[in-house]
Amino acid sequence: MASKVDPNITEKLRKLGAGDLNQCYHCGTCTATCPLSEDGVSFPRKVLRNLQLGLKDRLMESPEPWLCYYCGDCSEACPQNAQPGETVMAARRYLTSAYDWTGLSFKMYTSKAWEFGAILVLGLLVVLGFVFFHGPMTTELTPGGGVQLNVFAPAETIELLDWTMGGVLSIFLLSNLFRMVWKVLGEDRKKIPLKFYFTEILTLPAHFATQKRWKDCEKPGMHRKHMMLVFGYVTMFIMIFGFLKWFQTDEVHPVWHPQRLLGYLATAALLYVTVDMMISRRRKELQMHKFSHSTDWLFLILLFLTSLTGILVHFFRVGGLPMPTYIMYVIHMAILVPMLMIEVPFGKWSHLAYRPMVAYLHQVKKKANEAASSKK
Ligand code: SF4
Ligand code: SF4
Repeated sequence: MASKVDPNITEKLRKLGAGDLNQCYHCGTCTATCPLSEDGVSFPRKVLRNLQLGLKDRLMESPEPWLCYYCGDCSEACPQNAQPGETVMAARRYLTSAYDWTGLSFKMYTSKAWEFGAILVLGLLVVLGFVFFHGPMTTELTPGGGVQLNVFAPAETIELLDWTMGGVLSIFLLSNLFRMVWKVLGEDRKKIPLKFYFTEILTLPAHFATQKRWKDCEKPGMHRKHMMLVFGYVTMFIMIFGFLKWFQTDEVHPVWHPQRLLGYLATAALLYVTVDMMISRRRKELQMHKFSHSTDWLFLILLFLTSLTGILVHFFRVGGLPMPTYIMYVIHMAILVPMLMIEVPFGKWSHLAYRPMVAYLHQVKKKANEAASSKK
């Protein structure tokens, strides 16, 4: 089948963190080493081959880049130091930007001015929003000794703004996801019986919630850390978007109250994992952390700062410190909003949607192929 050729793909990949593709002479050691490569979806050599030939369409249709979890084993084994793991990682960045119809993702992946500029502009808009529209600031404490945060930033209003932001995010993310599904299914979408989309549907939440392919990578601690990260941000996401009026209260609950316990556990998980990963990237001990793109750092730093400022708001509030609570709340929102608006649809966080979706489509295709071969 004909595939569109992009002669500039190597140059684009280089900007996105790929290794030197010219070094690869296709010995296949990397694919033999990869713990996740299997019959029918063999990588990373195949990904490198498509890139060397500039086969953009072939790359867009291939599930392989998303089935790699970047353990780094292939890069360690490569006799040519061609960095296949880093190249597959760069291919995922390329694909994230290629699925994005707005073009913003590619700009933010390839230009620090765009990346930091977008964060700063959105952060500034949030600050200005609070400067002009905040509620009264009062030093009068609640009967339990807490700060009246909800007079300054009523949970009802914040919740409405959250849902609006969530709606905008969903439009971008789902439309990009649809483009990915269309490409990955390719011509197979006409052949796959509808029933397999239903029978295999649980693959989707299973991969999202458990990240179970990390286990097959056999990197000590990595699966556990990713599970902690998922627990942290999913818990926060549910509380912020679904139960904000329960989560953002003025009342000072006892420390064992579920509202506080869940908040502490999720924050501790997020702080622990982000700090651990930043240290690992700084030390470059693990292969997967030897080469960090600026977006890898930004993702970790924003998540760390969001968690830190969030817990500081809480401590200032229950500690009865009005001005620090109000100021920290504005700072927290000025980091949280750009992080979600930029990272979820256009940046690294989009892999939370793409990876489980590809695992699901891969499973659907596998079952359809098995059913077709059993009929022959
Ligand atoms: S990336 Fe390295 S290990 Fe893989 S096929 Fe090329 S030369 Fe061989
Ligand atoms: S980084 Fe790990 S999972 Fe990804 S292709 Fe290399 S060996 Fe396979």
